[in-house]
Amino acid sequence: MTTRIGVIGAAGRMGASVCQAVHADSALQLVAAVDPQHVGLDLDDVTGVVGSGLSILASATDAFQLGVDVVVDFTVADASRHVLLQAAEAGVHAVVGTTGFDDADLAAFGRAFVSSNCLIAPNFAISAVLMMRFAELAAPFFDTGEIVELHHDNKVDAPSGTAVTTAERMAAVSDEWADDPTEHEVYPGARGGVGPGGIRLHAVRMRGMVAHQEVILGAQGQSLTIRQDSYDRSSFMPGVILACKLIGDHPGLTLGLDPFLDI
Ligand code: NAD
Repeated sequence: MTTRIGVIGAAGRMGASVCQAVHADSALQLVAAVDPQHVGLDLDDVTGVVGSGLSILASATDAFQLGVDVVVDFTVADASRHVLLQAAEAGVHAVVGTTGFDDADLAAFGRAFVSSNCLIAPNFAISAVLMMRFAELAAPFFDTGEIVELHHDNKVDAPSGTAVTTAERMAAVSDEWADDPTEHEVYPGARGGVGPGGIRLHAVRMRGMVAHQEVILGAQGQSLTIRQDSYDRSSFMPGVILACKLIGDHPGLTLGLDPFLDI
């Protein structure tokens, strides 16, 4: 039996990739695509999917009427918080990549998802999820640790959310980080920003790059570098597809892809 998928934000950069990935997977069926900016247009023309036979719908409720099992949401937080509460009300599972929710949103989603399940994952790239987990596992064995994240030259925030989360997780498992030896910084910021636990974060913005991160850990006579690279949006799709298939097995609200990978 195939799982019936509705994609919210279908005409967006991520949404279009999700439509393609879902349509290409024999265990999933793309049955609805929603994007208020492109209502009525042929989904194939907008997303590059071939042979979906779908037109773009105006709202998530239109999608629910078609009997979707799972909605995948890559939109904006303002739109997504309504979609998710509607999905919970309708008993539809949600796989969510949209970023920008606050603690109050997460608490509301936790209360709302009782008859269906919701995964919110700030990073669907499995290599990035593993990189964060590996950094967390390694952190207690090292005295010094710094994070270098490298992104394309259109990124307006720094450091990246993934870098912040990595530092938070490293700091949560170890508070034994050595003091910074720097007494004089020739250029302010040369030693990066001071993150959780005093872990330094360095943000590189570089034309030609997409999304990359190195976690560098050092101890006496040795160092460990954990590096992750996302080369394009396709890097997120295996995680999204996996989540669509497993969301029914993870009751309530789940934050982050880790439990879906059993790590
Ligand atoms: P985008 O601007 O290309 O696409 C967003 C789409 O959502 C647009 O087509 C817009 O018309 C649509 N939209 C807006 N309101 C809507 C509504 N009420 N109903 C349905 N559709 C609506 O953005 P993007 O680059 O595709 O990113 C989308 C989100 O995904 C962002 O929040 C981004 O931070 C996040 N993101 C997450 C991951 C991850 O791995 N979790 C990866 C990349 C991007």
